Amino acid sequence: MVMCKEVVENIIGYIEAELDDNTLEELEKHLHDCPECQAFVRTYKKMLELTGKLKERTFVTPDIRKKLKELLISKIKHQES
Ligand SMILES: [Zn+2]
Repeated sequence: MVMCKEVVENIIGYIEAELDDNTLEELEKHLHDCPECQAFVRTYKKMLELTGKLKERTFVTPDIRKKLKELLISKIKHQES
């Protein structure tokens, strides 16, 4: 079973379609049943759109990836506690 945390950890790969088929399938199954993770994906896509407007066609830099991941993971940690 995929947990929310794993979705967050793989969200960048998910949106950028970098995941292998098995991981992708597992994540999509989880997303289907988890409104919170669906919201994460939407938020992340929004952020990508916003950064995309500032930097044309320059995809997320490793630095932004790291920050986003930390942000999302901290959100989930808050939910758990
Ligand atoms: Zn979830």
